[in-house]
Amino acid sequence: METPTTPDGGQVCQSCGMPMTKLEDFGTNMDGSPSHEYCRFCFQKGEFTAKMEMPEYIEMQTKIAVEKLGIPEDKARAMAKKTIPNLKRWKKEI
Ligand SMILES: [Zn+2]
Repeated sequence: METPTTPDGGQVCQSCGMPMTKLEDFGTNMDGSPSHEYCRFCFQKGEFTAKMEMPEYIEMQTKIAVEKLGIPEDKARAMAKKTIPNLKRWKKEI
């Protein structure tokens, strides 16, 4: 098997956990080719857009989920804490 997939068969960003279904959802490598591991919000031209530690990142994702998706803050934080540490980008820091 190649990259991890969501139950519906789509790929998930290994930085934020966002499902990536369309080519536009994928980030870009240094040479401009699409990244198959990270989404466009996290990874541009071979670099992470948000260079921060995991706890800070979890807080950022929590705020985004509250603002964009209208999820209650405690629920959003619990989700982020469950998802993010299992993604490839963050695993090495545990
Ligand atoms: Zn992402």
